Amino acid sequence: MNIYDLIGIFSVLFIGIMLVLLAIALTLGYIAIKKGLIFLPGIILWVLTVFYIPAKKISGIFTDDIVIDKICVEVMNKINEKYFKEIEYKDRTIFIPQCLRSVNCPAKINYYGLNCVSCDKCCIAKIKNKADELGYSLCIIPGSRFIPRILNKINPKAVLCVACPIELNEVMAMLSNKNMCVQGVTLLKDGCVETDVNIDELFHVMELSLK
Ligand code: SF4
Repeated sequence: MNIYDLIGIFSVLFIGIMLVLLAIALTLGYIAIKKGLIFLPGIILWVLTVFYIPAKKISGIFTDDIVIDKICVEVMNKINEKYFKEIEYKDRTIFIPQCLRSVNCPAKINYYGLNCVSCDKCCIAKIKNKADELGYSLCIIPGSRFIPRILNKINPKAVLCVACPIELNEVMAMLSNKNMCVQGVTLLKDGCVETDVNIDELFHVMELSLK
């Protein structure tokens, strides 16, 4: 057997193992987002992170490739939920995207994000009220590049992020790698202007606690 035969055998083995792992992770991930039942979350997340591109290609054949990001978000939520509940509201920060605002928004953006004046033209006013009521710090940001500078300033113990599935997956993975306790809620409608979020779902996550 020469070196090319060995390379061929290892390549076939590698692809075979990858496909089996992906099939398991995708099946478990699908159950997680459809039924809310999560088995082996660490393994699902590891497989979908390591084989992110092939996972997206495969899911794109059968459905939407965004499913992979939704699964990762759901799994990270599950992994972090218990710890998130233990952290007091005052030690949590919520990041929401400025694309939720009305096109007629009168607020100005500064170094730390949008300074909402609660004009009630969009759902951000309601989210701001809820954050104030519970004691969260709220940051309305034009992009994920604002997150590190805000974390440096506030230094929260937990973070709740709202974003489109792809960006949310990236941001949650980045924050998890920094050992930050994180939860995420995906936008109902993404894009750059007048996006939408399920307020009931967001408030439910904001209210998570041990009480
Ligand atoms: S509620 Fe706040 S973010 Fe929304 S349009 Fe008014 S000022 Fe802008």
